[in-house]
Amino acid sequence: MRDQIVAGNWKMNNDQIQTETLLERLKTYEIPNKVRVMVAPSFTQLSQSKQLLNGSSIKVAAQNMSAAPSGAYTGEVSAGMLKGIGVQIVILGHSERRTLFHETDVHLAEKVKAALASDMEVIFCFGEELEDRKAKAHFDVVEKQLKNALFDLEASAWKKIILAYEPVWAIGTGETASPQQAQEMHAHIRNLILNQYNPSVADEVSILYGGSVKPNNAKEIFSGADVDGGLIGGASLDAEDFMAIVNAF
Ligand code: PGA
Repeated sequence: MRDQIVAGNWKMNNDQIQTETLLERLKTYEIPNKVRVMVAPSFTQLSQSKQLLNGSSIKVAAQNMSAAPSGAYTGEVSAGMLKGIGVQIVILGHSERRTLFHETDVHLAEKVKAALASDMEVIFCFGEELEDRKAKAHFDVVEKQLKNALFDLEASAWKKIILAYEPVWAIGTGETASPQQAQEMHAHIRNLILNQYNPSVADEVSILYGGSVKPNNAKEIFSGADVDGGLIGGASLDAEDFMAIVNAF
């Protein structure tokens, strides 16, 4: 059975003191056995977060990573550096990276391969823009994003892939896809994977929904048969809200 996952994407929030405060609060909650819980702090707080979460089942993920192993790439961080501090999970392809930092499917395919070569787990984000949905092109856009970045991976590589469908129009806007829209897209994604690979890859891959998931809508969104959890932005900055979402299955 595939994993149920709730991952908090802190984005460029939480300095040293705020990180400690939030993680200490999260540690006071009991984590349900059936849910994998992760937080993704900024690069500067990863070591601190690893230390603070030592002994907790909450895992630490990075928000980005370079495709290159080392060298003249000012401002970048490699898979080896992340692994060196015990970080084994990385978010790749977030819409803010695609839009603000011009990451393309080609870049992302390289990053995914670099992460997998270092035996890291990847939370791969993708999703359509509002215009795509209005033009009824959302299924095609998502298919292209998956195809370009992931569909030449070996079937065995998918053990390390977590998908996060995040319609761009729902990120940080307070507007969510309806539970029906989320389920419809997740079922479509699973079907694409089935056609490209085989039933076991399709059944085993966790597909998270992201985009304005809050305590008051998480349960309905997570009730979709193909929705295996969420990638949470704003609501992951508040311990009570985040834990309410963790407990919303
Ligand atoms: P949001 O962000 O929950 O604040 O909409 C989700 C994300 O960007 O991953």
